[in-house]
Amino acid sequence: MPDPSDLLEWYDRHARDLPWRVPPAARKAGVAPDPYRVWLSEIMLQQTTVAAVRDYFLKFTARWPTVTDLARAEDADVMAAWAGLGYYARARNLLKCARTVASEHQGRFPTDHATLLTLPGVGPYTAAAISAIAFDRPETVVDGNVERVMARLHDEHQPLPQSKPVLTRYAEALTPDTRPGDYAQAVMDLGATICTPRSPACGLCPWRSDCAAWDAGTAAELPKKSPKKRKPTRFGIAYLARRVDGAWLLERRPERGLLGGMLGWPGSDWGDAPFEAPPIRAEWKALPEDARHTFTHFHLRLSLRTALVPMDRTPERGEFIPAEAFSPDDLPTLMRKAHALASKG
Ligand code: SF4
Repeated sequence: MPDPSDLLEWYDRHARDLPWRVPPAARKAGVAPDPYRVWLSEIMLQQTTVAAVRDYFLKFTARWPTVTDLARAEDADVMAAWAGLGYYARARNLLKCARTVASEHQGRFPTDHATLLTLPGVGPYTAAAISAIAFDRPETVVDGNVERVMARLHDEHQPLPQSKPVLTRYAEALTPDTRPGDYAQAVMDLGATICTPRSPACGLCPWRSDCAAWDAGTAAELPKKSPKKRKPTRFGIAYLARRVDGAWLLERRPERGLLGGMLGWPGSDWGDAPFEAPPIRAEWKALPEDARHTFTHFHLRLSLRTALVPMDRTPERGEFIPAEAFSPDDLPTLMRKAHALASKG
């Protein structure tokens, strides 16, 4: 049976340096993590890598240092700051959650799993992570890294996602009462830096002598995964209109649905054969290159139309944003790609 204290000793020496983390030495010296930073990082890390999150986290915490500051922010500012990070429902829930913590919990995050679960955007995984990391509670935190480590430690060949319950039980059995917050982060670090998907560095692993996959020589083929369905491709048309004074015609997308609440180029529905849906009367020019993007469940090819429109033309949809107020960085990645192609030609 692997010993959590072996992993904690390894963590004391090799913990990753992350801007939202209190390093193990500081933690032992009594520095408590800020639940706001733990929560913010966990929301950002849902479906997104550490490398992609780092700069966003620093930007958010510099601009909104506390949950109360974030609760007071304008929706449009937060959505713009989130642009490019993807999965935009997270940003809308982030604001809702900050406002709930500010108004119903006096600006302090609840400490227990059950109350954390009542917060917008906080599911079982995130509640466990906040409870463990911010409040040092013995919660079992199971992300993709932890699943991989557990599958290998136990040489579990049942494929994901069917094996999730058994992997969670393995993880629960190992969760210690001593330093549970550091332990939760240690397993994730082990998965991210040593027990990596393709070529695990078993020679450096503190759990090697207790690892069944190491014994069996099967580490690199675990965890098994059920075959994924092929993603379909959908098609759409986006219209990038520029007024002669340089203003761009943009539209805020509906709250619900993909890229919900984000600014974007007005366009058609996305499907097999989209209909033209120009937002303003103009001489539209088709661009030779499509903007391509892959969402969780489908690929998208967006045909692009551009036009220059006179000052007195009124749009049927969207509104003109003056050139000085427009920044492509405020757009989600797909819309940013479309802008880059339109600017090219
Ligand atoms: S010995 Fe290798 S496969 Fe086993 S837990 Fe360590 S890194 Fe992963």
